[in-house]
Amino acid sequence: MAKILATLDPELRQIVSTNKVFKNWAKTFSCSPELYFEPTSEEQIVKIFYLAQRTGKPVKAVGSGHSPSDLACTNGFMLSLDRLNEVLAVDTNAYTISVQAGMNLHELHRVLAENGLAVSNLGSISDQSIAGVMATATHGTGAKFGSLPTMIRALTIITPTGLTLHCTPTQHADVFCAAQCSLGALGIITRITLQVEPAFRLEAIQEPVPFSTVLSMMPTLIHSAQHVRFWWFPYTDMTVVWRANRSTKPVRQAPVSWLRDHLLGVHAYEAVLDITRFGPLTKAIPSAARFFFGALFDRKVKVIDDSYKVFNFDCLFPQYVNEWAIPWEHTAEALKRLDAFIKENEIKVHWPVEVRFVDEDNVWLSPAYGRKTAYIGVIMYRPYGKPVPYKKYWQGYENIMRSFGGRPHWAKAHGQTCADLAPSYPRFQDFLRVRQELDPAGTLLNDYLRRHVVGVAGRGVVHKATPGVSQDERGVAEAEEDAEARAAGGFGEGEGEGEGGVVGQVLARL
Ligand SMILES: Cc1cc2nc3c(=O)[nH]c(=O)nc-3n(C[C@H](O)[C@H](O)[C@H](O)COP(=O)(O)OP(=O)(O)OC[C@H]3O[C@@H](n4cnc5c(N)ncnc54)[C@H](O)[C@@H]3O)c2cc1C
Repeated sequence: MAKILATLDPELRQIVSTNKVFKNWAKTFSCSPELYFEPTSEEQIVKIFYLAQRTGKPVKAVGSGHSPSDLACTNGFMLSLDRLNEVLAVDTNAYTISVQAGMNLHELHRVLAENGLAVSNLGSISDQSIAGVMATATHGTGAKFGSLPTMIRALTIITPTGLTLHCTPTQHADVFCAAQCSLGALGIITRITLQVEPAFRLEAIQEPVPFSTVLSMMPTLIHSAQHVRFWWFPYTDMTVVWRANRSTKPVRQAPVSWLRDHLLGVHAYEAVLDITRFGPLTKAIPSAARFFFGALFDRKVKVIDDSYKVFNFDCLFPQYVNEWAIPWEHTAEALKRLDAFIKENEIKVHWPVEVRFVDEDNVWLSPAYGRKTAYIGVIMYRPYGKPVPYKKYWQGYENIMRSFGGRPHWAKAHGQTCADLAPSYPRFQDFLRVRQELDPAGTLLNDYLRRHVVGVAGRGVVHKATPGVSQDERGVAEAEEDAEARAAGGFGEGEGEGEGGVVGQVLARL
């Protein structure tokens, strides 16, 4: 490193730092990039790629570090685009906005609102960078709304060979289709043009509905509002259904109770999750679920506000998450199977299980490619950042999702190998071809991409299941791993080291 620094281009010297330790938002994955760059121009990105070529170092862009996996990790050169966050153009007639890709969603909402515009759909938070949400096909909910990359009308990407490509559905069309959800594997995306719509308010109604009712009315439920999601609370046989529609009614905020929403909903909740992490007290989790459901969610709530404020939620504290996409006609059956799995195995799980609906799209690596999709997400909180056992739950959940042709959310650590994923995506080989053309030396590859996308050799995927790994053996592997972790004093903080980390390897083995 000293040698690289000694000969570093003076311009790059201004934007480089050493000793950076990157941790993702949930602090479940970390890495130590050799050099950390915060470029302020596209020319600097080209120079960083030339430096990487000369020195043989891998390169990775990072957004706001919210991915619950090692997707953004590298021990080579890490690039943050936080300083490439300007507005480039706003067209209030065509309802489009062009921005530098490092801008975060909060800032995007602010600029759009100033211009009487808004994004049509959104996920649960707006802390991510625009490039980051697109790179993983982040989604919101809404039967007639695609995942967020479907909003992209144009993008600019700098490839590891130093090319700058301006891509649209008709210009460098293959690169465009691959780069809408790029996993950071094709180049550094520096500019994005989005299709948005006139600013709007949403009227959202949230109400408790029995789990059995939700299961029986699924096809109707999906279409019962423009945006529908529900949270199932295992052990309560209840859900909370959230429906939102565009509205011209005046703003109406939900009444806030500090006692209920903060003392109980955050502090007491986290304390209870903490004391029930291991041992006999885990048996209290079902009673706790019933108590918190009754205290916090067993009532109807109505909110009317600017769309982006209503789409977003408080995601509380760090967590392990897993989320897969299945064809939405299997939603009820998949949830019934998950319920049975939890009960039969007496697994103590946190709540809720979140279900959202996304229209089919044609983004090559979108989990909603070519099929109307239900995303089912499971969660295990990490109270006060401490570990909790979750792998048995994940294993059962993943097996169920797999049996319905599930595709995992790219941002979230999961157990699918390249061999599992390739046949599931009709354009997977096209993605690999574009990747090979843009990054023949594999500069942008990291452990995650080798494990889940390109295969170890980086040359593509053999279309057959990994030989010799049965479901039973997966179970054994997991049990052994858990026993090891316990013997070592619990599920350690370092379990998610990127670039060779334990969790990634174990999940990949599942
Ligand atoms: C609390 C929480 C709530 C969430 N809610 C949702 C939700 O509602 N719906 C949903 O679908 N997901 C959700 N996610 C997942 C989240 O949207 C994704 O992980 C997203 O990718 C994070 O964006 P980021 O800016 O943090 O990107 P990072 O995690 O930093 O990076 C993600 C990927 O983007 C690549 N990348 C970043 N910038 C660039 C660039 N300029 N050029 C090329 N590649 C780049 C990185 O290399 C990496 O591969 C949530 C995550 C958290 C922690």
